[in-house]
Amino acid sequence: MAYIQVAVPVPLRQLFTYTHTSTLYRGVRVSVPFGPRKLVGVVVGTVLESDVEDVSKLKAIESVLDDNAVIDDVLLKMAQWLWQYYHHAPGEVLHAMLPVLLRKGESPNPEPDDMLSLTSDVESIDLSILSRAPKQKACAEALEKGDMLASAARKRFGAPAVKALVEKSVATITATIPQFKCAGWLNTMEVGEKPIPDKEQSVAIAALNRQHNSFAVSLLEGVTGSGKTEVYLQAIEPLLADGKQILILVPEIGLTPQTVSRFEKRFGIDVGVLHSQLSDKARLQVWQRARAGELGIIIGTRSAIFTPLKNPGMLIVDEEHDESFKQQDGLRYHARDLAAMRAKQHNIPLLLGSATPALESLNNALSNKYHHLQLTKRAGGAQSTHQHLLDARDQPIHYGIAQGMLSIMRQHISAGNQVLVFVNRRGYAPAMLCHHCGETVTCKRCDRPYTVHKGQNRLQCHHCSGTRAMPSNCEACHSSELVTAGTGTEQVEQGLSALFPGVKQVRIDSDSVRGKDKLHQTLEAINRQEYQLLVGTQILSKGHHFPHVTLVVVLDVDGALFSADFRAPEKLAQLVTQLAGRAGRASKPGEMWLQTHNPHHPLLQDLVNNGYGHFARLALMERKAASLPPYISQFVIRAEATDSHLAFNFLQGCKGIFNQHHAVEMNGPFPCLIEKRQGRFRFMLVCSHQKRSPLHEALRIALPFLQALPQAIKVRWSVDIDPTDFS
Ligand code: ADP
Ligand code: ZN
Ligand code: ZN
Repeated sequence: MAYIQVAVPVPLRQLFTYTHTSTLYRGVRVSVPFGPRKLVGVVVGTVLESDVEDVSKLKAIESVLDDNAVIDDVLLKMAQWLWQYYHHAPGEVLHAMLPVLLRKGESPNPEPDDMLSLTSDVESIDLSILSRAPKQKACAEALEKGDMLASAARKRFGAPAVKALVEKSVATITATIPQFKCAGWLNTMEVGEKPIPDKEQSVAIAALNRQHNSFAVSLLEGVTGSGKTEVYLQAIEPLLADGKQILILVPEIGLTPQTVSRFEKRFGIDVGVLHSQLSDKARLQVWQRARAGELGIIIGTRSAIFTPLKNPGMLIVDEEHDESFKQQDGLRYHARDLAAMRAKQHNIPLLLGSATPALESLNNALSNKYHHLQLTKRAGGAQSTHQHLLDARDQPIHYGIAQGMLSIMRQHISAGNQVLVFVNRRGYAPAMLCHHCGETVTCKRCDRPYTVHKGQNRLQCHHCSGTRAMPSNCEACHSSELVTAGTGTEQVEQGLSALFPGVKQVRIDSDSVRGKDKLHQTLEAINRQEYQLLVGTQILSKGHHFPHVTLVVVLDVDGALFSADFRAPEKLAQLVTQLAGRAGRASKPGEMWLQTHNPHHPLLQDLVNNGYGHFARLALMERKAASLPPYISQFVIRAEATDSHLAFNFLQGCKGIFNQHHAVEMNGPFPCLIEKRQGRFRFMLVCSHQKRSPLHEALRIALPFLQALPQAIKVRWSVDIDPTDFS
């Protein structure tokens, strides 16, 4: 009889022991009884003697689902690190790491697929007859070198080319179980045209070439458009040629077809893509092909960090400062930190790239923990965008835009160029209030003002997404004079139509462009110069290039200067710098204007005059002086409940426990930045310590006591390690 330790997907911070007739491999899935249910768990170990007093009470494993591990040793180590570091339930960690279909117990082996192969008597076919159909020719050549192509692998040639080959009887499609081939891309890989790297790029590439087969983290700090992606491309080339796989993480919104095709085109291989809109089946296929070593390059968003790799060569995190790499619910992991952990386990290099590195990463680079690689100039001689502050004090404001700003916009528009206006709020206005008594129309569930959406003629709460009809009278005094306060994208759009009649305009926010396709269509129309005025939110700051934009306008930067979140200035500086990088590419130099009522604010002055790099180094000094991360470690305990006393008292109880036993510095409990959401009051307790390990040790010891607090089962509470968001 063997005692098997199983990670069962329940929210409990422990492993469960089951019995089985023999030992089992780690990483194998098993079906186990859990109360009245049957759950799919993962074996993490076998113990010969159980510490349970009455072993006869142990239940037996019901069935073993795999012959071989579905989670390899490196990923299992990563899982262990995750549940220890984030103090999370092991079963939930392992479930998060597996594709959905495998969580449900389905087979990890490939199913029959429509495979494309050359018709057997192909010797008689002269491929040169396809010379006028380059896609067909490329596809036929790939078939010649690599036997069969699965549906995913032939996507890059396009469906029409495949159809034509079948019609010409050059190729046939048969349902076959795909045989994944390790380093299969070597058959077809062909390096396309590439620019000669400039001096800084060469230095970076050479440094990365020296890191093969060893663990090292490098931060590539390069201004927008300086050729970071080109460095990635040239740095991974020798690794790919050596049969090694590359895993690239990108922000959710940065994963565009253009990004993927840039890698496909350079190497002539197909790239595995992983993002949140993929079907479960497609996701499993990429998982299978990556695991078999068939895919040379895998590009994906946050959770792609869990993709198994047979022969890993390098990990890359692009736009490493992006907030989407931190999961904000459930298992609150940071994919960048996990990537470092994983690279170390594989003994391979990790490359982090950004124009606006996170202060955490910059600190690691400046203290020589990371290699620091810098690109200070835009590639190909393009000029950088000049930044200025526009003093809005005492100026007439039209639809949120100062008079002086309008004249600058007019100049760029009459020169035939595009102007981008950034507004940080979608909707018409962030609030509606009574002109007579001042009462604001608020969402009762969140105690926050509703945002006015004139397009839909409704009010929407941006905290709980609840909506209601537009009121015609004040609820307090019944006056019918309701007015809006503040400015959102809809209002700016409407205002600009009035101010610039006849100028074609487009609005880009999550209301106007639902779905990835709509966004890409709009972006392409912009680059075809179908519009001259672009109004939008954050979406505009990520990854897209607007070669015809010569003016970027940022309305209302003041909010971030006075935020209670100590990361707000960093986020503002990143946003502004990323926005500036969208404009004035190639031959068209650009300028950026930030509209503010605080033109002498040192942060804005520093950012505009000295750039992000300087600002970030100064901000690090301020963090050090104020004893804030990255110079200290933090975790947050959040609690929410419909009864605010319950949530508050729970956190008071937590505080008492830490006070009793450990030297942890505590702040709070105080209300979260969003004090109430969906009818629940929200509080947090911020715990800090100079050093990470004593802080984590304190939490580990305290957790059972926190769980035993009387309010613990009545409130919703969670632990967030290294929090990045205090909302
Ligand atoms: P980033 O990733 O830093 O935004 P990219 O790698 O996308 O920068 O480069 C910006 C543009 O400059 C691209 O069109 C790229 O092809 C071009 N480029 C990059 N490196 C060079 C180089 N050494 N010489 C000429 N053009 C380059
Ligand atoms: Zn009123
Ligand atoms: Zn609400």
